[in-house]
Amino acid sequence: FDIRDNRVKETDREFERALRPLTFEDFQGQKKVVENLKIFVSAAKMRGEALDHVILHGPPGLGKTTLSTIIANELGVGIKITSGPVLDKPGDLAGLLTNLEENDVLFIDEIHRLSPIVEEYLYSAMEDYRIDIMIDKGPAARSVQIQLNPFTLVGATTRSGLLTAPLRARFGINFHLEYYDTDVLSAIIWRSASILKVKITSQAAIEIASRSRGTPRIANALLRRVRDFAMVKGTGEIDWDITRYALEALNIDKYGLDEMDNKILLTIIEKFKGGPVGLTTIATAVGEDAGTLEEVYEPFLIKEGFLKRTPRGREVTELAFKHLGKNDRRIDEQ
Ligand code: ADP
Repeated sequence: FDIRDNRVKETDREFERALRPLTFEDFQGQKKVVENLKIFVSAAKMRGEALDHVILHGPPGLGKTTLSTIIANELGVGIKITSGPVLDKPGDLAGLLTNLEENDVLFIDEIHRLSPIVEEYLYSAMEDYRIDIMIDKGPAARSVQIQLNPFTLVGATTRSGLLTAPLRARFGINFHLEYYDTDVLSAIIWRSASILKVKITSQAAIEIASRSRGTPRIANALLRRVRDFAMVKGTGEIDWDITRYALEALNIDKYGLDEMDNKILLTIIEKFKGGPVGLTTIATAVGEDAGTLEEVYEPFLIKEGFLKRTPRGREVTELAFKHLGKNDRRIDEQ
């Protein structure tokens, strides 16, 4: 069990659902995105039309699924949720699309992982609200056109760079979600604590927030674990002492870095003398693909000042050496 693992496990779904904000009001942070979405949603409602298709990109756990459910709620329509890898046959997509009611939202997570055939079908559905399906086989085979209700496709991806150009072009609304700062994360923790009916001090909330890798999903998961410690080892209330004790026991990184973050930094330090080193070389050395490194790991490391992008490649900073307890030989050599 690794608390910093940002993937959703089946047992955690219930917990996530309980803490998921249902309105723009309850959704903290991402101010620009929310402000704009509010306007587009209101305008679509005033016209009685389906909202334009929306693509949300950004690292996992930042609220893409949450925002899509909020969009549907605020529009007062239904939502169907699926994901790219699950939709592997055009028939599955056709089934979902023909079941949508007027102006409903269809959310497709990991939309960059759609198969090319399914993606093809999506084009005409997005553009003209129709799909052509083949019926019968052999000489009797013919294509039948099915008219769909107007709908909004909300696509989520961690890697906008991976969308094909024709798919990307069909989204009218495009937003990038950013990592959250500690203030916003502690407000999220505060809200979650009140839903979970557990008392927490503001100092404790800030401490948990600062170790959550800028990610609400991790913040909520940490809160849940610290709550366990508070119940068993403390008074039930989450205060500073029990938080420090729990985070220590859980071996949570002071800066909220996860295993892969640390591995990347350590690799650059140990194998490449701190850099500069090219992205693909790092990717091979840590066994992760270059796109994921660039779009999921790097932005956080750069934001927190552990890594720099230079014309000659990636370079770790002094802070990274310090954090990992390594000597910065680059300084000794000077
Ligand atoms: P993603 O789809 O980007 O991986 P989710 O929408 O599933 O992320 O969010 C993960 C968890 O974090 C959810 O339980 C949700 O309640 C919480 N969360 C995400 N963003 C926010 C936010 N802005 N305010 C409050 N809670 C949030």
